[in-house]
Amino acid sequence: MKKPISKIIDGKRVIVKKPELLAPAGNLEKLKVAVLYGADAVFIGGKEFSLRSLASNFPISEIEEAVKFAHSHGCKVHVTCNIVLHNENLEGIKEYLMALDKAGVDAIIVADINIMMIAKSLNPAFEIHVSTQTSTLNSKAVEFYHDLGVDRVVLGRETSYENLRSIMEQSPVDIEYFIHGAMCINYSGRCMLSNYFSARDANRGGCSQSCRWYYDLFENGNKLNDETMPPFSMSSKDMCLINQIDKLIEIGVDSFKIEGRMKSIHYIATVVSTYRKLIDAYCEDPDNFVMSDFYKDELFKAANRATCEGFFDGSVDENDQLFNLRDEHPTQDFCMRVVAFDHDAMMATVEQRNYFKVGDEVEFFSPKHENRKMTITQIKNSADESVGVANHPMELLQIKVDFPLDVHDMARKLRK
Ligand code: SF4
Repeated sequence: MKKPISKIIDGKRVIVKKPELLAPAGNLEKLKVAVLYGADAVFIGGKEFSLRSLASNFPISEIEEAVKFAHSHGCKVHVTCNIVLHNENLEGIKEYLMALDKAGVDAIIVADINIMMIAKSLNPAFEIHVSTQTSTLNSKAVEFYHDLGVDRVVLGRETSYENLRSIMEQSPVDIEYFIHGAMCINYSGRCMLSNYFSARDANRGGCSQSCRWYYDLFENGNKLNDETMPPFSMSSKDMCLINQIDKLIEIGVDSFKIEGRMKSIHYIATVVSTYRKLIDAYCEDPDNFVMSDFYKDELFKAANRATCEGFFDGSVDENDQLFNLRDEHPTQDFCMRVVAFDHDAMMATVEQRNYFKVGDEVEFFSPKHENRKMTITQIKNSADESVGVANHPMELLQIKVDFPLDVHDMARKLRK
């Protein structure tokens, strides 16, 4: 019997089946940020058998550390093992899965049926999530994977809301659905552009993102594009379903996935904390929830490409494509991360991430506090000398602040 999605408690309807917020993490630092800024679960890639080979994947020793940190904060760790296996990739898979199991990971994300079978034979309790790489888009395919013994299906990004709703009504397993991040111009990952253009296999972790390169258009040897029609890309806009979160919660989607293991800590902190606040506020009082501009404004403080709602309404058109747009629209610039705080002196030790100077207005944001603004009045370098500007990447500096800060708080420079 399915769990109810909402209940009346003390005369008020509340959501009792809150979706998991699942965040990406390309390395240990990003994982800690995702956990601290509100993720219920994180997904990471191992050094082997994972896509996104450039996403600074984790060796086993770091996976163990990641699991310890995440579990100590009540957060789960899912590890991607979602390459499409060729015969030459078979060696070492058993040993790798055994090491993941021993490390205490909560689930593995798998595309190849062989890996699913090996994992279940090693440990029947091994939690298996079917990767979006399988392009699962219908209820019968979900049932098929359930019969194989998997625990969750990550639907293809091409699943419309109407399809999702009917899958949710019948699904015998958990359903994970993408809510934010990059899209492929082909069925998720089932793409050979990168193989043809750069000899890098998108389905074995090597996608060179050839869809985002710029192309000229030729017909019979004649170039068709000119200065009125510059070179174009085939890239899709990113997906952003912030306006649809209420609908997705009300049909009981089990997990909301944010894409982006290559993204910065600023992006991860901003996107995770925004969806965290939105989901919590909606679940607490869904019938009186008002979708304010606050959530969208927060989201676009981090670097985002132009966004659309992908296949949510069933299809996409030319407005959901980038063509020749190169859009990153951050409304604010990430400038520092707090690494220590001296309460008596009200001085924060910060790690410089982008240029800032005395006189700049900055906004601190944090998993614990509302956003707070202040003007920078003093910056000191490691020799305790006052300096006017912070222009060395990753330099540790001291700044005088107007309010207490915590380690892992971050600041953005407000654009005038
Ligand atoms: S080249 Fe583009 S469409 Fe193809 S797998 Fe890579 S990101 Fe996706």
